[in-house]
Amino acid sequence: NFVPPIRSSGGNTGNMISPRISGQCDDALQDSTRKCIEMLCGPDGELPEKLRNLEPRLIEHVSNEIMDKDPNVRWDDIAGLEHAKKCVTEMVIWPLLRPDIFHGCRSPGRGLLLFGPPGTGKTMIGKAIAGEAKATFFYISASSLTSKWIGEGEKLVRALFGVASCRQPAVIFVDEIDSLLSQRKSEGEHESSRRLKTQFLIEMEGFDGGNDQILLIGATNRPQELDEAARRRLTKRLYIPLPSSEARAWIVRNLLEKDGLFKLSEEDIIAICKLTEGYSGSDMKNLVKDASMGPLREALRQGIEITKLRKEDMRAVTRQDFEYAMQEVRPSVSLNELSTYEEWNRQFGSLL
Ligand code: ADP
Repeated sequence: NFVPPIRSSGGNTGNMISPRISGQCDDALQDSTRKCIEMLCGPDGELPEKLRNLEPRLIEHVSNEIMDKDPNVRWDDIAGLEHAKKCVTEMVIWPLLRPDIFHGCRSPGRGLLLFGPPGTGKTMIGKAIAGEAKATFFYISASSLTSKWIGEGEKLVRALFGVASCRQPAVIFVDEIDSLLSQRKSEGEHESSRRLKTQFLIEMEGFDGGNDQILLIGATNRPQELDEAARRRLTKRLYIPLPSSEARAWIVRNLLEKDGLFKLSEEDIIAICKLTEGYSGSDMKNLVKDASMGPLREALRQGIEITKLRKEDMRAVTRQDFEYAMQEVRPSVSLNELSTYEEWNRQFGSLL
């Protein structure tokens, strides 16, 4: 049998962390890892139970890469979606802010599903929830668990929930949750992905019903792929649709105003909104970016060198710039897809 050449000290299993980090066992840890582990220890210097026997590098990865120290999105940054904002405020923000009121009959669900086309603000909502509820935000894409962390996904999931429980209140946002909790038993469903799924459900079960202040948000563009067990745990399911015409106008105005480039008339805005039916929020952002290049491209076409171009000489962004940009930036969601979401929403969505 091959025995890995690891340091052995006082029963410590080499690359595992012993409960007490101050001591001989952590000499081998790099400074950054040690700091990160120390921050998770209680006042007694002990690492919480859930994090024991996990590899330090996984805990460090969760703390540095998955935990977002400054999600930096507020409700006011999100266009439209009034219905979702109202539901989320009542269902998850208030309970996170006032756990003393929201217990017993009022105890909130711990799992929220945001579903709908890509680029409609699901991740923004997750970040805004964390911001508004003063919670720590953790973001992980479920597909990275199966692709990047092959064979280690389970351990990473344990580390994720473990660190979150030390950083309460916490919001864990799992993007593309369908790839983790899919009902499809494809031939490719390996033993490892089945185990990963089981571990994930166990972790969810662990904080559901307890006193933990942890909210799990799953996001998906393919809600129909979720199985019954996943639906049961994600008790609230909110449809995040494409932006309305008003929301699209808001995105255009907001992005251009931020850069001091907004000079469009009300008529221009109405025309742009008419032409962008079916665009997602993310499509609108790409459109604004492309349109705002219009004045620059025109100046260069006129032979002005980029190094000599003066900002104050550039013309404003016009409706025509948007019309040109629309040839480049097309809507990324098809009408067919929309009817699938609407149907699923009727069947499983929280219509509150
Ligand atoms: P999703 O998670 O639904 O795929 P995101 O929340 O990541 O989409 O949105 C991607 C980008 O698109 C955001 O960073 C933002 O710039 C823009 N966007 C999407 N929806 C909205 C919205 N409702 N309001 C403002 N910006 C939006």
